[in-house]
Amino acid sequence: MLTLTQDAVSLGRTATDWRDALTQAGQSLVDAGLAEEGYRDALFDRENQSSTYLGNGIAIPHGTQDSRQYVKKTGVRLLQFPGGVDWHDGARVTLIITIAAQSDEHLDILRSLTHVLDRDGVADQLSSASSPEAVINLLSKEPALPTRLDQDTLLVGLPARDRLELATAAAARLRQIGCVDELFVADILDQTPVALGQKLWLVRSRHGVKQPALGFATSQPPLSDTAGVFCLAEHGDGHVPLMERLIGLLEDGKGEELARVSPQQILARLSGESSDAETAKVRVRNAHGLHARPAKQLVQVAREQGIEIKVRLMEGDANAVSATSLTKVIGLGARRGQMLVFSARGATAAAALDTVVEAVRGGLGEVVTPLDDTSAARPSRNKTRYTPVEPPAPDTALAAVAASPGMAIAPVFVMRLPDFKYEEHSSDAAGERERLSTAIDQAHRQLESLIDHAGGEVAEILSMHEEMVQDPELKEAGFEAIGEGLSAEAGWWKAIDTSARAQEALADRLLAERAADLRDVGRRVLGLLCGVELPEPPAHPYILVMEDVGPSDVAQLDTSKVKGLLTAKGGATSHSAILARALGIPAVVGAGDTVLALANGQDMILDGERGRVIPQPSQERRDRAELSIRERDQRERKAYDARFESAVTTDSHRIEVCANLGNTAHAKDAVERGAEGVGLLRTEFIFMAHPDAPDLDTQISEYREAFDALGHDRPLVARTLDVGGDKPLDYWPIPQEDNPFLGLRGIRLALTRPEVLETQIRALLTAADDRPLRIMFPMVKDVAEFHAAKAIVDRVQQDIKAPDVQVGVMIEIPSCAILAPTLAKHVDFFSIGTNDLTQYTLAIDRGHSQLSAQADGLHPAVLHLIKMTVDAAHAEGRWVGVCGELASDAQAVPVLVGLGVDELSVAARQVPMVKARIRELSMADSTQLAERILMLPTAADVRDALEDM
Ligand code: PEP
Ligand code: MG
Repeated sequence: MLTLTQDAVSLGRTATDWRDALTQAGQSLVDAGLAEEGYRDALFDRENQSSTYLGNGIAIPHGTQDSRQYVKKTGVRLLQFPGGVDWHDGARVTLIITIAAQSDEHLDILRSLTHVLDRDGVADQLSSASSPEAVINLLSKEPALPTRLDQDTLLVGLPARDRLELATAAAARLRQIGCVDELFVADILDQTPVALGQKLWLVRSRHGVKQPALGFATSQPPLSDTAGVFCLAEHGDGHVPLMERLIGLLEDGKGEELARVSPQQILARLSGESSDAETAKVRVRNAHGLHARPAKQLVQVAREQGIEIKVRLMEGDANAVSATSLTKVIGLGARRGQMLVFSARGATAAAALDTVVEAVRGGLGEVVTPLDDTSAARPSRNKTRYTPVEPPAPDTALAAVAASPGMAIAPVFVMRLPDFKYEEHSSDAAGERERLSTAIDQAHRQLESLIDHAGGEVAEILSMHEEMVQDPELKEAGFEAIGEGLSAEAGWWKAIDTSARAQEALADRLLAERAADLRDVGRRVLGLLCGVELPEPPAHPYILVMEDVGPSDVAQLDTSKVKGLLTAKGGATSHSAILARALGIPAVVGAGDTVLALANGQDMILDGERGRVIPQPSQERRDRAELSIRERDQRERKAYDARFESAVTTDSHRIEVCANLGNTAHAKDAVERGAEGVGLLRTEFIFMAHPDAPDLDTQISEYREAFDALGHDRPLVARTLDVGGDKPLDYWPIPQEDNPFLGLRGIRLALTRPEVLETQIRALLTAADDRPLRIMFPMVKDVAEFHAAKAIVDRVQQDIKAPDVQVGVMIEIPSCAILAPTLAKHVDFFSIGTNDLTQYTLAIDRGHSQLSAQADGLHPAVLHLIKMTVDAAHAEGRWVGVCGELASDAQAVPVLVGLGVDELSVAARQVPMVKARIRELSMADSTQLAERILMLPTAADVRDALEDM
């Protein structure tokens, strides 16, 4: 997003001619401290190369690549010339947006500009704007994020048994490639796919979306009623064009075909290319991507062809745009190394595409270098080696991180890299070349036969490997290295490593991921040269042991065989854990490197609930584990049967068990699962589900859906809007912050727009009518913030004569727990958000890839804060709930009960088991347990103590 301050905008300027206007533009950058004097001349140099006129009365003067030395800081200045200036290319300019940019940041600036200017009428509004605020408002609207759709969002030919499995796999894939988080996956798991017709189905959610994306999963063998399932991660309305294209395909009766064509063809159809179009691909080789000048050249070449030519990025949102529109082409934001796909129809299409592709290859007026010389390639020798460590002791429990519940007993299969041993040098170059050629041919044949036996996406990946192994340039590079005195193995690995590093050096993540495939291929050939076999998974069910699970492993994960997942690295929020949870596979992660030394075929018990594994278990342990698997199944069934009974301890202490919801439509399901109310309605998800702030009536009807499902006896605790931090709202832009979790979020942010909060409260009170509503504020740090927010509730209540409701705060910031006695006098209740409370107490970002495993809510420091909160609340006769993830942690439930918590609010599907767990406890024992636990020094000690119970 383009961030502008008022002093970046200068309105009502006049200029004698375009030179004067350009001089003013350069001076504005110098005056703002963005550039040195020399940059002014660079603007003229650039203009002499070609005009920077963009269209719609807008010019975007910027320097040449050589003038970057004059740029002090990246930034833009906007100069308005309401009377217009005749530009040197005959255009009339009313607005100059002049850019000073270091490196290729200007590409992002251009991209966001073109997205803004693309909107109808914005250019005119900018030229006639009468205040800097108006200009900033127009320009700082975040463009709708494009919806990602590429090879990585497709899962073709999965061995799925029904469409729910396809939906789950598609959601898990989106999570794995970083488009969504676990909230999204959980929401999808709760859904029934909606029929689109032609055996296509759709699941969609706006929860937990980091980058909008469209996943698509198909099965092999095909299912009788399902050709494929689309999984849409929505945010804003960026998905609309893509969905319109999908509907167009359905209208043309071409939907079902999508299940039968290759991933490339799926992308082509969804991009709007017609099935009879000619296509041609070419990689961008310009050092700074398709910035304005090469883009302009491309547009000119495309126009000269006299036919409609479309272009899209192979890795992106599969949106084919007109190659003759400058703003659209710049809007692609194509970077060096990215692949452009051109398409056109008709008799002259092939020739036209050849010309366009040649022009791109030639650099579009810029000097370009081949793609593989960007890396500081440094040969690394023999780096694929796995250093063996001692395996864990047999029949002994090895503790790690519980990542996905359930238990498995099966032989292990360790997916580990083999140890390649070879001579580094050889004086027989001809002989070494011969060996390398033979190994490459053998690898090719191996891959061919694997492809014959594999299906769906596995076959796709293997075909890509097949292409890579046949790449003549790789072989040539290997031969060259052999000519320098290296052995066939060392020469081949040098070629692979150099090429993989070049890919990794590219800014594009997808291309960087291809480097992993290149190394896979390299190892296959290396294995053949060294006579070392690569691991092939067994045909029987097994527990998969890996260092960590990466993207291409997912494609090869055969869910009918993988009974459990154990990884050496990763935490509870790592890809492996999330994926396992989504696929319902018991998993233990972060067990350390020793597990990689386990021998294949040895039996193992994996306990995904307690986070431990037992290699080579004794018969006795095995019997116990089998029994516990049967018991768990029974417990789950029993808990479900008793879901409508209260959760009362053996000594008659009742704990209320409620559900956490992000979507009011799920309230009915929560009641069906035994929830005694809603303990946390994350209302921000309702806001995120709308492209603009939902108005009063929309909110009333959304909230009413939950109240209607809950009736008069079940309360609903609505948390007011909690955006900021990890939950952005696209129509409420927040200035860039270094630490968003410590910045404008929760109630702090809401209080900056009291009218939004007031509308929300009015909607809640109106929808509730006489049903039990409780309102709470998020991220409160002290009583002053509570009073400010509560004043709004009081005002609205008086205004609409609404009945009195309970008003409380979330305890998520340690200051609030420490000051709970001062708050308890004023609030009606507390609800402890252990996710944030743990994050802020332990100073660990809750989403941190390496540290989040340590962000354990059972840390004694967090437990002390919970106790302080409960004691303070009970002293004033207030109640306390826990609505963070800790409330559904089986080990934590007795501790929370023992600390005196009155209510637990958990994911709806956990309600029956949490209730059942409480029924097993006695309050007296739990209190004693909590007292003991509070004396312990670390979370690990707490977990150990609870383990021994
Ligand atoms: C929490 O922080 O524990 C909580 C329930 O709020 P959220 O997870 O929505 O931030
Ligand atoms: Mg929170």
